[in-house]
Amino acid sequence: MNHKSIAIDGPSGAGKSTLAKLLARELGFLYVDTGAIYRTVGLGASRMNVCLEDARAVESILPQMKIEMGYGEDGLQHMYLNGEDVTEAIRRNEISRYASLVSAIPAVRDYLLDMQRRLARENDVIMDGRDIGTVVLPHAGAKVFLTAAPEARARRRLLELKQRGQETELETVLRDIVQRDEQDRNRAVAPLRQAEDAVLLDTTELGLEESLKALISLVKGRLAQ
Ligand code: C5P
Repeated sequence: MNHKSIAIDGPSGAGKSTLAKLLARELGFLYVDTGAIYRTVGLGASRMNVCLEDARAVESILPQMKIEMGYGEDGLQHMYLNGEDVTEAIRRNEISRYASLVSAIPAVRDYLLDMQRRLARENDVIMDGRDIGTVVLPHAGAKVFLTAAPEARARRRLLELKQRGQETELETVLRDIVQRDEQDRNRAVAPLRQAEDAVLLDTTELGLEESLKALISLVKGRLAQ
């Protein structure tokens, strides 16, 4: 049976995961947060004390990292590193940077590609990330590039971190976001960019309800084509 897939890409803090989760509920699709997978590799590599910019060193420890994904009773995606549930641990602010560093390494991307494609072969999925529409699922039935102005994204991310009990300043979050986007956009493999056949959705001026409405109508329209 052929499964349907929806690709949602965009820079950090654009609201991809919040919106994709709600869209998945609306459509009855499986939501796959691919950033969480890269975060797990970033966490694993940092725990093994390798330099995260040293591609060879990171590649050499990949076989020692057992990365698994599952869905908890809460219906949410959980990440496991060598059997330990690291779902919360990967949300720490510094892990964003670690994820961005290891995700620029071609061997890491190859290592995770199969896992992501298998999920899409076996389920109707909404997958969010940076290269879903361009590399992971080039034949996705609907592709959306979700973005917002950096300041708006920083404010949303700050709120999210606060809700998780992580106190930080808006300027720090903004600086981190801009730095991470730049790194994700300029890397040699699978850089962050809008797929040619993706629809752009800018949520700078939109609230959550409005963004969701726009996304649902856009995706349903695409899937019906
Ligand atoms: O989406 P999230 O902010 O959790 O992703 C963390 C990092 O993982 C991103 O900054 C990016 O470097 C990397 N990533 C990626 N490709 C994906 C998803 C995430 O390179 N498909």
